[in-house]
Amino acid sequence: MSDKPERFIDDEGLRLDGRRVDEIRPMKVEMGVLSRADGSCYLEWGNNKVLAAVYGPRELHPRRMQKPNEVLVRYKYNMASFSVEDRIRPGPSRRSTEISKVSGEAFEPVVMTQYYPGAVIDVFAEVLQADAGTRTAAINAATLALADAGIPMKGLVSACAVGKVDGQLVLDLNKPEDNYGQADLPVAMTQDGEITLLQMDGHLTPEELEEGLEMVKKGCQQILEIQREALVSRYGNEDEEGEEAE
Ligand code: UDP
Repeated sequence: MSDKPERFIDDEGLRLDGRRVDEIRPMKVEMGVLSRADGSCYLEWGNNKVLAAVYGPRELHPRRMQKPNEVLVRYKYNMASFSVEDRIRPGPSRRSTEISKVSGEAFEPVVMTQYYPGAVIDVFAEVLQADAGTRTAAINAATLALADAGIPMKGLVSACAVGKVDGQLVLDLNKPEDNYGQADLPVAMTQDGEITLLQMDGHLTPEELEEGLEMVKKGCQQILEIQREALVSRYGNEDEEGEEAE
């Protein structure tokens, strides 16, 4: 029997988890949680729990894989077998391979790859508990883990999904909305609003797509604020220190 809810949005405009259509789930981040990694971040977003670890830049072996003029950024997304209701078979799957590829590419415009020719930066994103939106949660954690590792970047990357349920656009889909909704559109963008990842499942009209992208941009701006606060609380605010020194 399907556990599809009859309605996703009630007469008050509230979703099954009590959020408004344009509200993201509560997010909590902690940087520097792993002592062996060069950079790390633990992130909770609603019921998602994700750990990101960055190793490098370090020498890449075998050498034939080295890029002579830039660093290679490798991104590995993995769902722990215990992270979902039905146990996931350990090891790579088509889904995780695809998510790893597109998520790694989402960082290409921001990571200043020219600084470490021939080296590699490994980003591992481990989903410990999954509840819809894990690829976006992983990207949000990975950008902070990269910053924690001191990787030179032009800015941060923030990610969020928008979708459609009951004919209405909703920001940051929860599990029933993701499973039974009419569309799911995960997006990642730089802090300047340049889209670096866009995937889509389901159907949206061109007008809905345009409106959805506006919604997701606002969601990413809120996430960017959370990411900035995490950075400031770990490393302090350089502007303030500069002012004090004057
Ligand atoms: N999911 C699952 N088993 C899987 C893949 C996904 O139970 O093998 C669940 C998990 O909760 C995930 C959600 O379905 O967060 C949505 O998966 P999707 O492929 O849309 O990716 P996500 O939204 O997590 O980026």
